[in-house]
Amino acid sequence: MPETKIGFGYDIHRLEPGRRLVLGGADIPHPKGLAGHSDGDALVHALIDALLGAIGEGDIGRLFPDTDPRWKDARSTGLLEDVVRRLRARGGEIVNADTVIVAEEPKMAPHVAAMKAVLCPALGLTETGLGIKAKTAEGLGPVGEGRAIACWAVVLVRI
Ligand code: MG
Repeated sequence: MPETKIGFGYDIHRLEPGRRLVLGGADIPHPKGLAGHSDGDALVHALIDALLGAIGEGDIGRLFPDTDPRWKDARSTGLLEDVVRRLRARGGEIVNADTVIVAEEPKMAPHVAAMKAVLCPALGLTETGLGIKAKTAEGLGPVGEGRAIACWAVVLVRI
């Protein structure tokens, strides 16, 4: 009998001038981008950690260490697809996923459709199966000061 498992993930990356901003697999025009060994896509990293947590396979740092040159500037959606393949290889499927982006700038709402266009097929979810909610940090802390973007994700997996 398949079991239903929940997974939870979080990530935060610094915003730096001169980097491309890639979030949720979408290219977002902005003068700053997320720093990181890969493309710094904190939303995809949070989703990956949520999926790995649900299936008891550790975390993103263990699977894709930032000391490995293979993941240098890697598109994080490729890593997500790898994790979904692992889950499917074990007979698992994703029931739904829900996420929160906390960013002072840029405004995320106009980019949610582009993120869903990338992430829903990657996760095997319909448009209503993936939640992407965007908030600000009300000016508080490093995220509120526009120095970082933080993301949270939960997933439900049947495996
Ligand atoms: Mg990360």
